[in-house]
Amino acid sequence: MAKKAYAGLDFEGKENDPLYKRRHSLAHILAQAVQKVRPGTRLGFGPPVENGFYYDFLFAEPISDEDFGAIEKEMRKIINEKQPFERREMTAAEAVAMLNEQGENLKAEYCADLASRGENLSFYRNGPFEDMCAGPHVEHTGQIPTDCFALDALAGAYWRGDETRDQLTRIYGLAFDSKADLKEFVRLREEAKKFDHRKLGKELEIFTISDQVGPGLPLWLPAGTVLRDELENLAKEWEFQDGYQRVATPHVTDGKLFETSGHLAHYKEGMFPAMQVDENREYYLKPMNCPFHHLIFGHRPRSYREMPVRLAEYGQVYRYEGSGALAGLLRVRGMCMNDAHIYCTPEQLQDEFTKVLDMHKRYYEMFRLSHYWMRLSTHTPERLGDKYVNMPEDWIKSEAVIKGILDEIGIEYQIGEDEAAFYGPKVDFQVRNVVGREETASTNQLDFAVPARFNLSYIGADGQEHTPYCIHRAPLGTHERFLAFLIEHFKGAFPTWMAPLQVRVVPVHLENFGDYAQKVAQELFKLGFRAEADLGSDSFNKKIRNAATSKIPNVFIVGEREQEQQEVTWRRYCVKEQHSLPLARALECLKAARAQRVMDNFADVEVLTLA
Ligand SMILES: [Zn+2]
Ligand SMILES: [Zn+2]
Repeated sequence: MAKKAYAGLDFEGKENDPLYKRRHSLAHILAQAVQKVRPGTRLGFGPPVENGFYYDFLFAEPISDEDFGAIEKEMRKIINEKQPFERREMTAAEAVAMLNEQGENLKAEYCADLASRGENLSFYRNGPFEDMCAGPHVEHTGQIPTDCFALDALAGAYWRGDETRDQLTRIYGLAFDSKADLKEFVRLREEAKKFDHRKLGKELEIFTISDQVGPGLPLWLPAGTVLRDELENLAKEWEFQDGYQRVATPHVTDGKLFETSGHLAHYKEGMFPAMQVDENREYYLKPMNCPFHHLIFGHRPRSYREMPVRLAEYGQVYRYEGSGALAGLLRVRGMCMNDAHIYCTPEQLQDEFTKVLDMHKRYYEMFRLSHYWMRLSTHTPERLGDKYVNMPEDWIKSEAVIKGILDEIGIEYQIGEDEAAFYGPKVDFQVRNVVGREETASTNQLDFAVPARFNLSYIGADGQEHTPYCIHRAPLGTHERFLAFLIEHFKGAFPTWMAPLQVRVVPVHLENFGDYAQKVAQELFKLGFRAEADLGSDSFNKKIRNAATSKIPNVFIVGEREQEQQEVTWRRYCVKEQHSLPLARALECLKAARAQRVMDNFADVEVLTLA
């Protein structure tokens, strides 16, 4: 396979990784096995991928996963034959002739496209099978353990991603270092399905997506809206304490704003198309909040005495994503960002960036996200003036400042060379969820170019005009992504302070204790808790089970003793034991749990000792 086939996959520098070589070799072995089991099958591309490998085929007759057994058996045979991989080179013209003769018209077409480059192409043969490929592979097929791989799934894929071309069948395989790793991956994936935010989002009535609204535009149901509001309240409090001011901006705007910001030049395909209004004025849905905040900063002259200016907004933005890329809350077309822009002097940069990173750290510790690290994306000097704004001194200075902060703050980080934004370096926070999936949770950027495009300035202590730096930050990302992540991280069970329904009061017997249950619910309600008494006709046991299925963090059970003593028996979602205590004390503990935002969805967190 030519290297081009891996476009979009990040294998740079991984070619010599032993597992990568085995995955790569397995793609060849799969193709050989398929052509043995189904003679006449034509080949597309077949690269290694994150958890294994795949190959695209043009079958004469459709296949199903019931054919996997026979193909795997053939693959094991090829492995046992210890076929060596042998490389040879030929010109593209020779390759086209050979592939056409073999009937491999898809591959021949691809080689013909490469012919214009005039380079030789490399082919690898193992046993009777030969494939165009840049390598490297294992030395011989016998170096691949027969129990560390498995065929996994079928999918449709158009030849070269073009919908007007042949639809091929992609066979995915998994491959790991050991049989145990393979089993563990499959187990985690099954686990992940149970807690998939799309499944839990439906069961817990958090959000829904309606075709009448359109794909990628979620409707937040009452429970989901509580989650958003609670997150937003938290963000507002912390931002207030850190000196941010809140602003609000419109969802649509004249396109000239996005010309100034550079979005129309660099980002147009990620925006919804223009609307014509008021004769010759083009309006756009906003894909980002930054330009609005820039105008708010610049709406009057600023003095160094009021710097830094920190403007925050949970801002709704709209971005155009192809419908094929949309997935639950993770990839959407409308999203609400935990956005803020900090305008500061060069002297303030270090402090302000440190505070931003510190705020992330506090959020992650609070949500018990222990697996996180940062990725600093830097520029390459060769691409100044093209991919990156041509301000070499600012790049060098700001990257040095950020590296210094990262070293000091003590969070693990990686460096992504040549991955910066065009106007400055960025720091991404990467997190790993309970089932091992890695996500970019948020992106922070240092921007030393755009403020000048908006003519932003402040009067310095020297009486002169200066251009401020701007820090773009969004520690909680968007509501959509962050809540998708939290739903899975918490397996749908939220702490009391966030939970859509915080307490359900369940009477042991409806007729005898229903009134007391209602009174307890009233007390909770008066204190601002989202609470209800379960006065339905289900049996007591069924009611307890329902509360657990709905992952309600607290159930107050009331019966004869509780009624007489003005008590409740408190049962937490994640804890086996239950405790009886005076209602007044239970209310104090709950109030403390809410005020302190304790993570009582984890069993080790004590609630009864809070008050
Ligand atoms: Zn290969
Ligand atoms: Zn921004």
